[in-house]
Amino acid sequence: MEDTQLKAPKIGFVSLGCPKALTDSELILTQLSAEGYETSKSFHGADLVIVNTCGFIDDAVKESLDTIGEALAENGKVIVTGCLGARAADDGGNLVSQVHPSVLAVTGPHATQEVMDAVHTHLPKLHDPYLDLIPPQGIKLTPKHYAYLKISEGCNHRCTFCIIPSMRGDLVSRPVGDVLSEAARLFENGVKELLVVSQDTSAYGVDVRYRTGFWNGKPVKTRMFDLVQSLGEIAKPYGAWVRLHYVYPYPHVDEVIPLMAQGVCLPYLDVPFQHSHPDVLQRMKRPASGERNLERIQRWREMCPDLVIRSTFIAGFPGETEAEFEHLLAFLREAQIDRAGCFAYSDVKGAAANDLPGALPLAVREERRARFMAVAEEVSAQRLQRWVGSTLKVLVDSAPGLGRKGGVGRSFADAPEIDGIVRLLPPHKISKTFKTGEFMSAKVVATEGHDLVALPV
Ligand code: SF4
Repeated sequence: MEDTQLKAPKIGFVSLGCPKALTDSELILTQLSAEGYETSKSFHGADLVIVNTCGFIDDAVKESLDTIGEALAENGKVIVTGCLGARAADDGGNLVSQVHPSVLAVTGPHATQEVMDAVHTHLPKLHDPYLDLIPPQGIKLTPKHYAYLKISEGCNHRCTFCIIPSMRGDLVSRPVGDVLSEAARLFENGVKELLVVSQDTSAYGVDVRYRTGFWNGKPVKTRMFDLVQSLGEIAKPYGAWVRLHYVYPYPHVDEVIPLMAQGVCLPYLDVPFQHSHPDVLQRMKRPASGERNLERIQRWREMCPDLVIRSTFIAGFPGETEAEFEHLLAFLREAQIDRAGCFAYSDVKGAAANDLPGALPLAVREERRARFMAVAEEVSAQRLQRWVGSTLKVLVDSAPGLGRKGGVGRSFADAPEIDGIVRLLPPHKISKTFKTGEFMSAKVVATEGHDLVALPV
């Protein structure tokens, strides 16, 4: 007969939203395991469900509210955390509690302790903490071979279209020693690609005045350049990749480009430009909006010719004139942005941009987005051609049957989930095999939309 006393309480966990929310989920899951809770990705058989929500755009809000509704219907005991948990309803009350009054507790993002307090209240933990159940790298929601590394939380800017600072607060940088220790643990445990994330990676350390911390007995400044240099050193013995996301083009980013040229981190920069026209950038209150971005990009490419730039943009921002929009298209062409995404502007509840004059009709915003994407795809397809004939290092994401029938991987130019892939053909030699999570070499033979087709060599 089963001894129910010894059965670990089980928690269903749903993680929605961006990589920053994902790292919050990982912290909560790690803590749950540390305390002896069993976790699963489904509600089935769970004693309680935690939903980590996203509240950035309307679609994300709807998805989060629907998921909470499903969890309540299937399980009944639900704790809500994440960005949507911090959102106010029209009357100033909490939005989630109003839509779903039966949830047990609601917290905002980055609130591991509050979530754990709610779990302890509604599903007390076992007496034996089962500490030996946690793997040394903590709980990761990504495949074993890549991981997100969050270096800071919150943001000091106040872009008019964004409500993240009101949900996540001002910038708080993690101590550099903690960040580097986490990176070292991840590499030791088989991670081959580390994706550095935050709201504003270039601002790392501003809040602590670039304080000097310590790692491995050596002083390291809490500063983007020093962080990247140290991460590169830690990654080197593993041949692993370090990829930078959410980098705003502050002047000191220029110092990081030579590190890319030297192979310290990948020559890949995810810079959310959002627009090119100075007046629109000013209305958006974008950080580093005064920088001459086109000239900067040209200089970056001179320093590091392989540099791949990914960016996101907004078309149809309030007051955007046709001339301003065409400035953006010209920028896209001249800057040769390798990977560009674009949103048609839409109001986000609580954002200052909602009150700006000159709101454009929806049809105009959509039409501009479509025109933007047509140019972006043309630039991107043409940029991809330069790889045909070259041999690239590829990280294998999937290789059923040891790759004998081919597989899927990514080159330095492709971040997981958001960029293209390298479609790997079956190797010519039967003895040539490759495995998920390993690096291999492949010769590019063609392009296919956003993707490359390559033959293992
Ligand atoms: S930089 Fe702007 S868009 Fe990014 S999180 Fe901060 S306020 Fe939001």
